[in-house]
Amino acid sequence: MQVDDFRAGVRAWIEECGADLVPAAENTDSVDAQLDHQRHVQRRLFDVGWMRWGWPQRLGGYGGSPTLRAVLGEELTSRALVHTASWSMHEVLGPAVAEFGLPEMVEEMFPRLLRGDEFWCQGFSEPEAGSDLGSLRTTAQLIGGNWVINGEKLWTSFAHHANRCVVLARTGGGGSRGISAFLVDMDTPGVTASPLRTMANVDEFCSMSFVDVKVPAHRLLGGVGAGWRVAQHILSCERGTIFWQRGAWLGHHLGLLLEVPTAMQSHRALGEAFQLLWAFRATSKATQERIAQGDLPGPEASVDKIMIAAAEQAVFDTARELLRGDLEIADTPAARTWRREWAYSRAASIYGGTSEIQKDIVASRLLGLPRSA
Ligand SMILES: Cc1cc2nc3c(=O)[nH]c(=O)nc-3n(C[C@H](O)[C@H](O)[C@H](O)COP(=O)(O)OP(=O)(O)OC[C@H]3O[C@@H](n4cnc5c(N)ncnc54)[C@H](O)[C@@H]3O)c2cc1C
Repeated sequence: MQVDDFRAGVRAWIEECGADLVPAAENTDSVDAQLDHQRHVQRRLFDVGWMRWGWPQRLGGYGGSPTLRAVLGEELTSRALVHTASWSMHEVLGPAVAEFGLPEMVEEMFPRLLRGDEFWCQGFSEPEAGSDLGSLRTTAQLIGGNWVINGEKLWTSFAHHANRCVVLARTGGGGSRGISAFLVDMDTPGVTASPLRTMANVDEFCSMSFVDVKVPAHRLLGGVGAGWRVAQHILSCERGTIFWQRGAWLGHHLGLLLEVPTAMQSHRALGEAFQLLWAFRATSKATQERIAQGDLPGPEASVDKIMIAAAEQAVFDTARELLRGDLEIADTPAARTWRREWAYSRAASIYGGTSEIQKDIVASRLLGLPRSA
């Protein structure tokens, strides 16, 4: 399937579906409604085939370049038919589980993930381990043929809606070498996901506790001690593939702002947001081309992460300037949407690795600058 044919086909299909794909205005207030709608869209996309392009046939896909997945995400998020944050999850976690999971396990589950019948979450961060992920304290011990996991996770996006979680846990000594990764069913006894309300007033992420959670041995990803490699694979997807559709989501919102009557003094903010967003898109395009050649984005993707965080905050700061008053307090679906997105944009320089950490990676791994004492 050629990218242009794919794009044309998806566009025609979206047009044909019409209002059926458009989320209700009140979805903004509820992650439940947002995910219900996403499941509906995903099922339709899978059943008609668009969702399967760009994934290998062994996973239930139709094959073809991963660029097809980026294009699908772009076509959906640029029309706000799905929310970019939840649409990202299968793209962030799916490739690593496909790479490191037992083939028969992955092949059995993957079609359900693509169809939206399953949703997965990412259990990396802990109360004392975010940027310094290598210091995580959750443990997994092999007891009687099962791994037994104990510990706490924090900021796990959509955990209360997820069927499975990729959990990092310590199986050996200290540091990153002693970490393993597991695919854990969320309904396993001992797993609790407690939603945390964000400043955008939605229950989007959770704290999680694991108390004597028994995980079958075949749910270990990539072998004992391979957790850091699994994590790096996932983080590179989090800093690469999904940014293309996130950029399209930002472009959609910037487009909406162009329709707002604007005082002369706000033109500068609009122009700066536009410039930051399109500079990011140019960089991200090169990253997507490398991914299409089969590369995993390496430290270069840290540049993309810094740029998209800056662009995202500029777009929604501009919204706040243009919609001042309304964005803060108006009680209309549109104002609530802008409020939620502005609040979420504050997190753009935190999730997936903070901007400070990305700058550190750029300094040490791309520029070869010495670490300070
Ligand atoms: C919306 C959102 C969704 C998230 N979803 C998930 C998820 O699904 N799964 C998951 O596992 N995690 C998730 N996270 C957590 C996220 O990965 C962490 O918040 C992030 O890695 C930072 O870790 P921390 O919050 O512990 O902050 P810390 O690591 O404690 O950092 C605090 C501050 O210190 C700075 N800092 C820390 N170390 C250094 C250093 N060496 N040099 C310079 N500055 C430094 C940081 O930049 C930051 O400003 C999410 C976070 C957000 C905001």
